[in-house]
Amino acid sequence: MNNMTETNAAGVSAGGFSGWAPIEKSSSQRSQANIIDYDRVCREFSWDAARSQLSGLPNGGVNIAWEAVDRHLGSPTAGVVALRWLRADGQVVEYTYAALAAATNRFANVLRDNGMRVGDRVGVLLGRTPELYIAVLGALKAGCVVSPLFSAFGPEPVRQRLAIAEAAAVVTTAALYRRKIAPIREEVPTLRTVLLTDGGPDGVDLPAAMAAADDHCAPAPTGPEDPALLHFTSGTTGKPKGALHVHGAVLAHRITAGYALDLRAGDVFWCTADPGWVTGMSYGVIAPLCLGATVISDESEFDAKRWYRILDEQRVSVWYTAPTALRMLMRMGDRPPDGTDLSALRFVTSVGEPLNPEVVVWGEHALGHPVHDNWWQTETGAIMIANLAATQVRPGSMGRPLPGIEATTLRRGPDGRAAVTDGAVTSAEPSEVGELALRPGWPSMFRTYWGEPHRYAQCFAGGWYLSGDLARRDTDGYYWFVGRADDVIKSAGHLVGPFEVESTLLEHPAVAEAGVIGTPDPVAGELVKAFVLLRPGYEATEELRADLLAFSRKALGAVAPKTIEFTAALPHTRSGKVMRRLLKARELDLPEGDVSTLEGPS
Ligand code: ATP
Ligand code: MG
Repeated sequence: MNNMTETNAAGVSAGGFSGWAPIEKSSSQRSQANIIDYDRVCREFSWDAARSQLSGLPNGGVNIAWEAVDRHLGSPTAGVVALRWLRADGQVVEYTYAALAAATNRFANVLRDNGMRVGDRVGVLLGRTPELYIAVLGALKAGCVVSPLFSAFGPEPVRQRLAIAEAAAVVTTAALYRRKIAPIREEVPTLRTVLLTDGGPDGVDLPAAMAAADDHCAPAPTGPEDPALLHFTSGTTGKPKGALHVHGAVLAHRITAGYALDLRAGDVFWCTADPGWVTGMSYGVIAPLCLGATVISDESEFDAKRWYRILDEQRVSVWYTAPTALRMLMRMGDRPPDGTDLSALRFVTSVGEPLNPEVVVWGEHALGHPVHDNWWQTETGAIMIANLAATQVRPGSMGRPLPGIEATTLRRGPDGRAAVTDGAVTSAEPSEVGELALRPGWPSMFRTYWGEPHRYAQCFAGGWYLSGDLARRDTDGYYWFVGRADDVIKSAGHLVGPFEVESTLLEHPAVAEAGVIGTPDPVAGELVKAFVLLRPGYEATEELRADLLAFSRKALGAVAPKTIEFTAALPHTRSGKVMRRLLKARELDLPEGDVSTLEGPS
């Protein structure tokens, strides 16, 4: 089996794999961080002890909505702005924690009045509006299981998810109902109730029902193992899976936000992920509210200039975003527009896709802070591996496991995944590419794939949860993403991680974004092919192609792309990830498979 150390063209050094110099933190940055002594906190941390940070329900048990909202009542936080909503028309609407508590109580009562019981699945198909936050938190309070549905999905992905969830209710708008649910309603026989945030003839008139409902509500007596959220994965590698999470996960949301996002009470926090995805729910809704921060919610879609303006005008102090968005900002230039004031910004962080070292370093100049990459999955429910505020950032690395998280890389078998022999697995050597694995036991670990117990069982071996991602660990315990096991390319005896090739291409001034796949070759097995999106002002000429090929050959040697195709757009999932499997299917004229999460008109 290849162990890939020989093919790491960017040059393996003891401390890192990207060839980029580590970024050190100043002593004042270190002293102000939530976690200062990483090694000590890791040694001393226990989830049992951390549990004391939860308030718990008044009569025992735990409920996510209570931890996020009601626990603040009776403290000064009750009057703090919990949610600041930036409407598409430019208006700003605010909800204090106290107002959010009252609204979520009303919503929980409306659900109960409409026959929803503890454990019933409630789909939430809403854009980024306060109703979304109220519906999610109110449903959790009522003990229902929330299944967030990204509002840009078309009818078929909505049907697929509601059917898998066997949803009893859905909360949406009249227009979304007509476009996305009415056409498929008959195919979801479990769906008893539709609640419409703007009323109308097709369901419960929520404004009227909310106005009539009591603004007090006893939360359902949920325990830490009771189901709370059914999150669908991004569908990057195939059909989306429904990962079930429990109320006890809130401990992980709270703790990891403190450690990995450096978040605390008083912060103005902007998570750009839509709450239809796990990042937007765990960190755009639950964690910041648990900590008493102010959440910024932007109704509109990405726009580079406006995003800079939001960071400035809203005095955002902690910003959690995604590599695709950062690459788009970088594409605009090395600096924010003149006059942009980012002095409130304290911490910048990113997730969801490999974060190219180029972008990490760009952050330092353009935003005043390096971008801190972190890694996790829908299945893990919370951040697992992260670059922290007080510690060195190694550009190109995802960072180190958070306190309470035990990670490793496992030696791989012929299929490229962890080799399991008689139920046992072996850890890979440092710098050897292995399957990234985690020791189960943290509170936000998913409890099953809804309706697919067999698939869930296949995720575990030898006492580890197998992530399906390949990574290397350096001798200091930093993890370096190589690729999804399904995306990795085998070429002439080399194992090529598409991320490394894409990052190298991104270092060329003409390249805005790249997607790399393997194409079959009778001699080499696979050849590396890159799809390249150019920055504005560059033309797709043969000369530029030759230049890019030479540029990558110089940096990457044998694993450099053999072919480069210029493209006007790369296929992304709606959560912002490059869909390499689709590039490959199109290249090879194969069926495109499940494209329900492909970005595009809905
Ligand atoms: P599916 O499982 O349906 O194919 P998905 O894996 O993209 O979709 P998510 O759970 O949203 O669904 O994404 C988790 C995956 O995203 C990780 O397994 C990893 O491949 C990728 N990822 C997340 N964070 C990072 C990161 N910091 N660096 C590299 N990859 C990351
Ligand atoms: Mg996945």
